[in-house]
Amino acid sequence: MRCVELDGTGGPEVLVPGIRPVPEPGPGELLIKVLACGVCGHDLLARRGLLGAPERAVLGHEIAGVVEAVGPDVGDGADLLGRRVSLVQRIPCGHCPDCLAGLTTLCRQGQGFYGEDVPGGYAEYVLATTRNVVPVPDSIPDTAAAILSCAVGTGYRALRRAGTREDDIVLVTGAGGGVGVHTVQIARHLGAKVVALTGSPGKEQALKDLGADAVLVSPDAREVRACVGDLGGRRGADVAVELTGGPTFPLALRSLGPRGRLVLIGNTEPAQLPLDPGLAILKELTIHGSAHADAGDLAEVVELVASGAVTPVPAKVFPLEEAAAAHRAVEQREVAGRAVLVP
Ligand SMILES: [Zn+2]
Ligand SMILES: [Zn+2]
Repeated sequence: MRCVELDGTGGPEVLVPGIRPVPEPGPGELLIKVLACGVCGHDLLARRGLLGAPERAVLGHEIAGVVEAVGPDVGDGADLLGRRVSLVQRIPCGHCPDCLAGLTTLCRQGQGFYGEDVPGGYAEYVLATTRNVVPVPDSIPDTAAAILSCAVGTGYRALRRAGTREDDIVLVTGAGGGVGVHTVQIARHLGAKVVALTGSPGKEQALKDLGADAVLVSPDAREVRACVGDLGGRRGADVAVELTGGPTFPLALRSLGPRGRLVLIGNTEPAQLPLDPGLAILKELTIHGSAHADAGDLAEVVELVASGAVTPVPAKVFPLEEAAAAHRAVEQREVAGRAVLVP
């Protein structure tokens, strides 16, 4: 099969075309013919050697495909033959204490994360299990199905972790990015009032069109406070979804009102973050970490998209062999929404 693999670490030029055998599904495994694979910010960090990708890794964890074959002992998985599916990016084991408790995102005993522990979706085929695939209806195109777990499901899970309710005021930082544009839509769908923060003036109108009640471009704390006040937040926002990590963390934390909830889901510029304990104590703040979607979240996201409540932001499509060009385009912020590779 054709694939794109890492030839060292560094710039986009280290992504090179390769040929590998089509993987054989083992017991409990499904062979997935890849229809589309999203290019995530995570992939850019992995390519630069900042994450755990091994030598000659095949990156890509935002995968949609067709179940083309099944291994032995797949149980109900046989019913999935020929079905289009969207994949969760980490394969849980299904039998460790975390999995048995339903906490599959915490499992570290399964096959693991695509592009790092197992070969990813920059290829014609990948392996999966019934624990990390969710069927998608025909109404959802391949390029959208690919990004449902990471770009849509991550924000969905984060908003749920924060117990987001109707009429909450929700701040979304890094709102113009691939996860942000969907988090804004989902927060709005949950009935919240949404303040979108972005560093890109060019994304202001697009974020309003997606349902943000207000869009602030690189604001300071005073501007955020005034905006939240205009939306009826007397003493600050109820929820902040922090997508960038370092740059906006202090602002997001300070913008929360009493009993505010902050959810950390992005870490684009890994660094230690300043935390004022007095602020957290006196306002009785809660800080959540939220990882990727699990299969239950993904199934709910599929429903939200199929019903039209959330619209995956259209992607720019690149042929698989042009993965390097796709990385370059994402790095130079030429892509609004997601870049998606199609084998
Ligand atoms: Zn991703
Ligand atoms: Zn497990």
